[in-house]
Amino acid sequence: MTASLAPTHPSAVSPDTTVILDAIDAAVAEHMDWLQAWHRALFCRDAMPQDVLSPNAHLLCGFGAWLARRRDAGGLIDQPAFDELEEAHRRMHHQARFLAGIVERGEHVPPREYDGLIEAVNEFNAHARRIASAFRRLLSDLDPLTGAHNRQAMLDELERERARAERAGTRLCVALADLDHFKRVNDTFGHAAGDRVLHVAAGRLLASVRPYDTVFRYGGEEFLLCLPNADLATAAAICERLRAALAETPVELEDLRWVPVTASFGVAAFEPGTGVREAIMSADRALYAAKEAGRDRVMAAVD
Ligand code: GH3
Ligand code: MG
Ligand code: MG
Repeated sequence: MTASLAPTHPSAVSPDTTVILDAIDAAVAEHMDWLQAWHRALFCRDAMPQDVLSPNAHLLCGFGAWLARRRDAGGLIDQPAFDELEEAHRRMHHQARFLAGIVERGEHVPPREYDGLIEAVNEFNAHARRIASAFRRLLSDLDPLTGAHNRQAMLDELERERARAERAGTRLCVALADLDHFKRVNDTFGHAAGDRVLHVAAGRLLASVRPYDTVFRYGGEEFLLCLPNADLATAAAICERLRAALAETPVELEDLRWVPVTASFGVAAFEPGTGVREAIMSADRALYAAKEAGRDRVMAAVD
């Protein structure tokens, strides 16, 4: 049985995913070299690398040390898929040490013990490949600047949620959030500062939604929120929380200047028979009304 890689909230994914992906790619390469050095030492009767013989070999290699460090930090790495990778890694090192011990004592190595090592290596590689490809998939769904989901699969995803809500008889809302006077931010502080503000603002949205909400980057400085299990009043309350999370603290730039950031929100509910595009248009009208009414506020659709 292999554990699946849990779908993870993008706020947790974005900064960390590439780091973990790089570490896993490096781990596979490192252990190819490690296995080669192990074979070389045995066949050529060369000195066995010292760390192969240590009972803690699995903690001494680059990947083992990295994993132990990361475990302390928690987060994305605390998933069953990583437990399996860690266990395969430990078994692989353990078996290599066990076999080296047999050879060192001048004893015969039973073929099934050698097969056991190769099995452990294959298992380690298979787990690593699986995790890496899940992370790559995750990354390709995310907008690199904001960490929000990109628009590519948005309509399909909304349609799925719409059908699910209809089947289950639950409420579903969409909201559009648009940063206020964002052109001014670029004009005053420069485009790079604008990018940073956008990144931080999106991070606050992602951190403030419920775990099953989805945030899409809808356009330049616009975000679409998919809010399942929420009627219009609940969705408006969620957006009010997001609005406050943005407005509460200005964004600090690298040069220590502060940029105030606010957004306007338009919220719409799916009624029976409401199509996805229709709901988005309705949220867009509410957003427009929020802008007209003075920005930095949440408006619910009245139609
Ligand atoms: P409003 O309150 O009416 O929404 O005003 P606004 O200035 O935010 O609206 P407008 O649509 O006129 O301008 C949006 C600006 O957002 C213009 C564009 O340059 C900027 N923008 C869009 N995407 C990005 C981005 O990825 N990075 C940066 N730095 N700016 C962006
Ligand atoms: Mg806009
Ligand atoms: Mg705007």
